[in-house]
Amino acid sequence: MIAQNFAYAAPSNLAEALKLLADPGAKVLAGGMSLIPMMKLRLAAPETLVDLRRVPGLNSIREEGGRLRIGAMVTHYELESTPLVRAKCPLLAEAAANIGDVQVRNMGTLGGSVAHADPAADYPASLRALEATVTLASASGERTVAIADFLIDTFTTALEPGELVVEIGVPIEASGTGVSYKKCLQPASGFALVGVAARIAKTAGKITLARIGVTGLSGNSYRATGVERKLEGTTGADIASAAGGIADGIDANSDIHASADYRRHLARVYASRAITEALARAQ
Ligand SMILES: Cc1cc2nc3c(=O)[nH]c(=O)nc-3n(C[C@H](O)[C@H](O)[C@H](O)COP(=O)(O)OP(=O)(O)OC[C@H]3O[C@@H](n4cnc5c(N)ncnc54)[C@H](O)[C@@H]3O)c2cc1C
Repeated sequence: MIAQNFAYAAPSNLAEALKLLADPGAKVLAGGMSLIPMMKLRLAAPETLVDLRRVPGLNSIREEGGRLRIGAMVTHYELESTPLVRAKCPLLAEAAANIGDVQVRNMGTLGGSVAHADPAADYPASLRALEATVTLASASGERTVAIADFLIDTFTTALEPGELVVEIGVPIEASGTGVSYKKCLQPASGFALVGVAARIAKTAGKITLARIGVTGLSGNSYRATGVERKLEGTTGADIASAAGGIADGIDANSDIHASADYRRHLARVYASRAITEALARAQ
């Protein structure tokens, strides 16, 4: 299909981009990996595309105040391959490496993925386990929100009209913390039927921190706090029992790819695998 006619703007700075985005008919173009197919299917019909590729500063990765600050236009491939990210936030690098195929990873961006809020996207599991923050900019200023407050529901975020994701903040992983992201993918697209991210820190043989994020299972990603509580304070000897609660109280998706029951089963299996690997890496 062919997209509806649209105007195209490629601003050269953030102020110009924000001015263009104040128009309700304007929409941000990042990697175009989700937006362009939606336009071709006429599920989206923006009057103007505001391409962020020439806006300086949105593609930087820097270390500041114990965190990595990652610009919205950083691509999946850059996250997967940048030594700083691999060393300081390996969970994010692992999630990025799991996305789609090499073409998608070369074009798609972190900011585009979180703004799109696809319930089967990979990043939300890791970003929730990392307790990431999202910095938003508009003509009236900047604000930073927790990822849990940003991802509201299926394709729904806390972005207000005219607002832009400019940066994602993640903690620099402390030594002794092990991480792992495991997903069962839909073979044609690579999207997650279920994806589980685990972050586990161990001190003197006991789990001192467990953060578990889940994507794909339901309409919104979530943190499995019940599983976290079952793990913290233990030696991690009974992973199967902790992982068994991963889908408790969750309204699981059912579609042509997997029934709700099968997704719940996958969630338990992949939670167990992610926790086991994170624990083994937490040395
Ligand atoms: C074949 C294929 C396979 C894929 N497989 C996977 C997969 O396995 N896992 C996975 O997680 N994803 C997958 N994706 C999606 C991919 O990760 C996209 O890159 C991502 O969803 C959107 O990022 P983008 O930069 O391309 O954004 P775009 O498509 O340019 O934009 C997406 C939406 O976000 C808005 N937007 C973009 N950037 C910003 C910003 N900075 N601030 C505010 N709004 C913004 C746009 O206006 C649009 O509404 C796949 C895509 C394709 C085409």
